[in-house]
Amino acid sequence: MANLEIELFRCRSDNFGVLLHDPESGKTASIDAPEEQPILDALTRRGWTLTDIFTTHHHQDHVEANLALKARFNAEITGPKNEADKIPGIGFAFGDGGQFSFAGHPVEVIETPGHTAGHICYYLPQDRLLFAADTLFALGCGRLFERGPRDMWQSLLNLRKLPDDTVVYFGHEYTMSNAKFALTIDPQNAALRDRVKEIEATLASGGHTAPTTIGVERATNPFLRADDAGIRKHLGMEGAEDWEVFAEIRARKDKF
Ligand code: ZN
Ligand code: FE
Repeated sequence: MANLEIELFRCRSDNFGVLLHDPESGKTASIDAPEEQPILDALTRRGWTLTDIFTTHHHQDHVEANLALKARFNAEITGPKNEADKIPGIGFAFGDGGQFSFAGHPVEVIETPGHTAGHICYYLPQDRLLFAADTLFALGCGRLFERGPRDMWQSLLNLRKLPDDTVVYFGHEYTMSNAKFALTIDPQNAALRDRVKEIEATLASGGHTAPTTIGVERATNPFLRADDAGIRKHLGMEGAEDWEVFAEIRARKDKF
């Protein structure tokens, strides 16, 4: 089986767009559909034709172009079962543990309630790829709009247990702000300090901070490290439950 190809680009004010392409079958999926024109431009740049949209959650900045792209390409839209009624044009709905295949590549659905109640991530175990949208960002996580910190912490643990070399694409370029915040939570973490320097260099040269990997996030992302002894001590929360430490970190970021 040939390797999948990926086209990553910026759209809207701070969203990432991602196209996933199988060179053997020609199938091409857009992970979410934030904005029509940049997706059309990306397809033209690569000479690909859209066949699928994999929707992660119902927010406008992830579904805005669903109907336009469906009309233009007759694309199939796959999305989250627990908010299927809010996904324009949805044809196939999957909840936690759902499995399907994209051009012969197995895809597993991981439900990650928190940012929205039905948010799903798409995991391709053979390709070591995760599309985490607004659940897990580089050095950050999504805001808790529809579920509480207990649910979101469990969602993040379900992503953290994936193999370290899993390549993670995510929904927004929020990384510089996340990096500044992370240093206030985990100032003693040398891997984090090194990473922040890399991020500054990447952004200064006009690059993207996506993708990341599970291993890098596990080592540096404070939202995945609520059970880390150093962070708990820094926050004076040695006796708290892990999800309570996570809740404190999330609350501090909301005010940062
Ligand atoms: Zn969102
Ligand atoms: Fe978003």
